[in-house]
Amino acid sequence: MIRVDSIAALTEQLQHWKDKRFTLGLVPTMGFFHEGHLALMRKAKSQCDKTVVTIFVNPRQFGPQEDLQLYPRDFEGDVAKARQQGVDLLFSPDPQEMYPDGYQTSVSVAHLSQGLCGTSRPGHFDGVATVVAKLFNLVRPKVAVFGQKDYQQLALLQQMNSDLHFGVEIIAHPIVREEDGLAMSSRNKYLTPLQRQKAVGLFEALQHAAGCISETASVPASILITAVERKIMDIEDCVIDYIAVVDALTLRPKENAEPGDVIALAAFFGGKVRLIDNITL
Ligand code: AMP
Repeated sequence: MIRVDSIAALTEQLQHWKDKRFTLGLVPTMGFFHEGHLALMRKAKSQCDKTVVTIFVNPRQFGPQEDLQLYPRDFEGDVAKARQQGVDLLFSPDPQEMYPDGYQTSVSVAHLSQGLCGTSRPGHFDGVATVVAKLFNLVRPKVAVFGQKDYQQLALLQQMNSDLHFGVEIIAHPIVREEDGLAMSSRNKYLTPLQRQKAVGLFEALQHAAGCISETASVPASILITAVERKIMDIEDCVIDYIAVVDALTLRPKENAEPGDVIALAAFFGGKVRLIDNITL
């Protein structure tokens, strides 16, 4: 596996592969790999000649009160894991490489960046769209793989890809879960053993709500939201950020929930660790 941290070295290596007409698959990440990240890498590998993984804890997608400094990192561990998956190139720039002095440009997806996580994390999705646009331009991949765990991020990047004519084939990978059902996340590391045990309650609440809807009928979204709310309010040390029933494509809130809609939520454990999850009805 080739490791580069400069744009010049990345571009040089990619040019060799492009000269040979190799197709490229891209998996952008912030590192601290778990099985969810590795599944994305395997998916990319199955679709392309060469797989490029990026590790960049993107300062522009963290708010001033958020966990940028505390975001978990294990670079050497990540290198070993990526190598094991057969990743061909790992690009891990530092912030100065991506945003040199004088950097000015930002990409903003007007509507899909609002609501849900956009409400409690203002500016977050501009940071995400900007860095992914830069990575798309640098790598020019045939495919890019993103996880459905970050459902709003995925929808927004699909919109950006279409609006800005990147022409990347975006592959949505299903959520990879721990054995008990908790969605894998780098932030799970910050849960205490008790919080970790309780955190599966988020998925159980989503499953419970999904069970309230049959394949044909629609149900008032408020009933599902209340059902999830009740379950989560019973989880010790857990505070709801939002629970919403939204259209799977537009992410607009639904009045009546139907099969194919998405219930998405975010919640804080211990006031600090923010977890997200979602389920398609
Ligand atoms: P992150 O490093 O958290 O920015 O995530 C990098 C990519 O991995 C994003 O496309 C995420 O949606 C995806 N991802 C993170 N956790 C999971 C998971 N549990 N299942 C599937 N994809 C995931």
